[in-house]
Amino acid sequence: MKRILILHTGGTIAMQLHDSHRDSTRSTISFNLDFFNDQVPGLQEIADLESITLFLEDSSNMVPEMWVTLAEAIEEHYESFDGFVVLHGTDTMAYTASALSFAFENLSKPVVFTGSQVPLSNRRTDARRNLINSVELATLNLPEVCICFNDRVYRGNRATKISIGDFDAFASPNHPVLAEFGLKLTIRSRYRPGSGAFRCHARFDPRIQLLKLYPGMDFNRFLPTGTNSTRALIIEAFGSGNLPAGKNDALLPGLERYLSNDGMVIITSQAVYDEVDLGKYEGGRQAKKLGALSAGDMTTEACVTKIMYLLAHHDDKYTIRDLFRENFAGERTH
Ligand code: ASP
Repeated sequence: MKRILILHTGGTIAMQLHDSHRDSTRSTISFNLDFFNDQVPGLQEIADLESITLFLEDSSNMVPEMWVTLAEAIEEHYESFDGFVVLHGTDTMAYTASALSFAFENLSKPVVFTGSQVPLSNRRTDARRNLINSVELATLNLPEVCICFNDRVYRGNRATKISIGDFDAFASPNHPVLAEFGLKLTIRSRYRPGSGAFRCHARFDPRIQLLKLYPGMDFNRFLPTGTNSTRALIIEAFGSGNLPAGKNDALLPGLERYLSNDGMVIITSQAVYDEVDLGKYEGGRQAKKLGALSAGDMTTEACVTKIMYLLAHHDDKYTIRDLFRENFAGERTH
């Protein structure tokens, strides 16, 4: 039997309601194997399970230091287990999964993130199915950091949360699902891991800023000037990477100032499907000329965690720019 480690970080899956109202007080519970046995009959027939609780947090409280703790826990137990299941809140699951995909080099075992929209202790929970699927997946040859939710498996750094109230909470708009659970499990995509030894490089520099554009935005209030607190600025621009370039607009002059002060600018899109093309419209063209980078078809979550990862590992801006353009964990198509 395969040995699978379940790492518990919190989220709705672990919540217990204290009365029947949706807004009632909740507490988060620490799972142990007896609890799993009770709540998810059959789970322990799939694999030889062990479980550890790292945190009991709503995932909106997750910060890069916690990604590091999680990554290092997997590193510590890497040799003793065949696969890993991470229980995590859905709200920032795609950020944590992306972060780990960058931190792990030559991952040759599955790291499967899952959670649920309804707590495990609730009768109508989606947690049982997600847990059973995830543990089964963790026993297979899928050497990826992935998210398993509502019968589908997504590459972690391609996934994004799309629904608050539906069991189908995730999508990966620019990458096919990796696998699907139906009458049988269909695996559609396989990632080829590097062949060297597994290494964990879990360091992230959070000194970045993410700016979502809207018509009428007062750019002078939001744009960084120097790089002390913002080493990179990610702009969620419109459509294909378009941004305001009228003669009264302060955005491009602000970007020029920031770039000349050694800042880095990355342009992603508010439209989640397809790829940023900075050459298509005037605003994007000018930003590119100033030195802004295209995020290609990466998710915002992948952009944020990739740049945090690169900033923590390199000082030279040109090296970071080159690496950002590369696809090194399956996170971008071009
Ligand atoms: N607020 C919860 C969390 O992300 C939501 C969930 O788990 O679905 O921790």
